[in-house]
Amino acid sequence: MNALQQRRCAHAEAITEVRPESLDTCPECVALGDTWIHLRVCMTCGHVGCCDSFENRHITKHFHASQHPIIRSLEPGETWAYCYVDRWMVGGRQMTVEVSNFRS
Ligand SMILES: [Zn+2]
Ligand SMILES: [Zn+2]
Ligand SMILES: [Zn+2]
Repeated sequence: MNALQQRRCAHAEAITEVRPESLDTCPECVALGDTWIHLRVCMTCGHVGCCDSFENRHITKHFHASQHPIIRSLEPGETWAYCYVDRWMVGGRQMTVEVSNFRS
């Protein structure tokens, strides 16, 4: 029997600490006067955008515009991240960068 090969995401291994540009708002929604449901942060540049649960999908648009592959949840208690390129959910254990470090 072959050992299961653990899938890895090179993007997740390359990311470093980022400072989210916001912790509790989607700046693009605020500019539009719109609302959002959940917030995500780009782990490449710290851009904050809203999730796919609502029509604006600013964090997905940010990926398409910038090709920054990894986003992370900004919701309290959520530690997952997601790589758009690998279409892979990065679990909390693999995730070495804690956004909570920036909460004060
Ligand atoms: Zn990846
Ligand atoms: Zn938004
Ligand atoms: Zn970015």
